Amino acid sequence: MCRLPLPALAALLAVAPLLLPEFTITLLNYIGLYAIVAVGLVLLTGVAGLTSFGQAAFVGIGAYTTAWLTTTWGWSPWLTLLVGLALTAMIAFFLGFITLRMGGHYLPLGTIAWGISLYFLFGNLEFLGGHTGISGVPPVTLFGWELKSGRDFYYLIWLVVLLAIAAISNLLDSRVGRSLRALKGGTVMAEAMGVNTPHAKIVAFLIAALLASVSGWLYAHLQRFVNPTPFALTQGIEYLFMAVVGGIGHVWGAVLGAGLITLLKQWLQDWLPQLLGQSGNFEMIVFGIAMVLILQRARDGLWPVILKQLPARHEKRQVATAEILPKRPLAAANSVLLEVHEVSKNFGGLVANNRLSLRVAAGEVMALIGPNGAGKSTLFNCISGVAPATDGEIRFIGERIERMPSRDIARRGMSRTFQHVRLLGQMSVLENVAIGAHLRGTQGVLPAALRLDRAEERGLLAEAARQIERVGLGEHMFDAAGSLALGKQRIVEIARALCSDPCLLLLDEPAAGLRYREKQDLAELLGKLRNEGMGILLVEHDMDFVMGLADRVVVMEFGEKIAEGVPESVQRDPRVLEAYLGGVD
Ligand code: ADP
Ligand code: MG
Repeated sequence: MCRLPLPALAALLAVAPLLLPEFTITLLNYIGLYAIVAVGLVLLTGVAGLTSFGQAAFVGIGAYTTAWLTTTWGWSPWLTLLVGLALTAMIAFFLGFITLRMGGHYLPLGTIAWGISLYFLFGNLEFLGGHTGISGVPPVTLFGWELKSGRDFYYLIWLVVLLAIAAISNLLDSRVGRSLRALKGGTVMAEAMGVNTPHAKIVAFLIAALLASVSGWLYAHLQRFVNPTPFALTQGIEYLFMAVVGGIGHVWGAVLGAGLITLLKQWLQDWLPQLLGQSGNFEMIVFGIAMVLILQRARDGLWPVILKQLPARHEKRQVATAEILPKRPLAAANSVLLEVHEVSKNFGGLVANNRLSLRVAAGEVMALIGPNGAGKSTLFNCISGVAPATDGEIRFIGERIERMPSRDIARRGMSRTFQHVRLLGQMSVLENVAIGAHLRGTQGVLPAALRLDRAEERGLLAEAARQIERVGLGEHMFDAAGSLALGKQRIVEIARALCSDPCLLLLDEPAAGLRYREKQDLAELLGKLRNEGMGILLVEHDMDFVMGLADRVVVMEFGEKIAEGVPESVQRDPRVLEAYLGGVD
């Protein structure tokens, strides 16, 4: 995460009102208000990958709550801030609960729908003043200081901007932050690492909505009146523009985007009519074209472009040592960990797994082999809860798990890697592996935002570093995971799985793409894990690798088990030779 010299920036912001004209202060105030909403979108859309066009409606809830309660009931603005936040949280929770479960286009469409309906609600409720709105909103008083002018208000707005940025930056650099970033890779990996993804989505959504609500509260007391116009869908779209143009993956991008778009609009509004010799909303047209151009030239927004111009910062390249995290008690040697009984999985008419049974014991390497399409990965998905079996029973350490979500299975000590690597390519190897330690920490949003989670965080990162060293990727600890060769990325996934302290490891083609020497290292590592009492179920195509490592082998073809036994006997089985080697003697 990028960190700017905050004190210098704060000092600059502090002296600005003393030097700048009123008009510029007004612009800066608006930029600050927009930036607060856009920071929320960075978290929601940039980090968690959930697109919302409806943030303006939450700004409206914050603004209308305070406007109505202060003017009609004479409540203190500080009290109405809390009421507005509570109301926003309730509405956001309700809306999020309904819409966040919808994947694909449904979520953005849902946000458009609520953006429109809340806007019309503001305009049609008589007690909120209809389309004329509410005027006479009182100023905010801070320690006896009445914030009446824009110049006074400026400090409050930018204080909130800086606090929001600090809190979100802290959050991103934490256990919760990693779980939110994991959402962007789809929910399958996050769930397999134990992340409660519906919960994580709601958290991101609530934080973004609350920031928008605070912005609305500030807006109402800056303007001293509210009407529905600024909370319309077009403004919701503009917020998203700001975040995207600034750089949706970066908190400072929100400020940059808010500033750029506000200034650009202002400038176009002033100059275009003069240039064209007639008035009209030409700025929106030019504005739209400019947006398209910017996004075409810089897909990740402008903040990364600016970062590249700055001299490279000295990055932290060391992981602090910490006490070793507590480990789960070992299963008794040779006790059965996993018992798959008559499991079937159908995809429509296709029977991908047909009444398959197998067992894996502690301290055993079991290999699952078979031609492509035999149903091996499908079985892994059934076992790990990614896609539940159609039929059959699965027991893990004595408990039935075939209907459990994968995060609950992960909590019980099963961890896995994926045939198609699921890493967050832009994040470092260290951060990727630390996602695996999710269930070994407990600190939530508030401690993370306030940086009260540092002791636990040190422990989690030290554990991740240990696992990275263990799999032999120490030199790549701080490299972006996506920059590694594919074979090495598979090893990163093994480190991530190990980081959860599993007693059963599911590895889907771990040796694919590795060189001979690397395969030997991997075999050695897996052998060591077995000796420590871990159970390992692996899918692999390299027969030398499998036969040298596995204690037992299950052979699959067309979704069915055709042979099972120690490697030597399986290798001689005529059915296996027929199916697997295509009958070649
Ligand atoms: P393997 O890992 O042994 O190569 P898979 O388990 O990936 O095989 O696939 C088994 C069969 O199930 C294949 O025919 C594949 O096309 C099919 N299959 C796998 N996943 C799905 C899915 N999500 N939807 C439909 N068919 C699938
Ligand atoms: Mg497969």
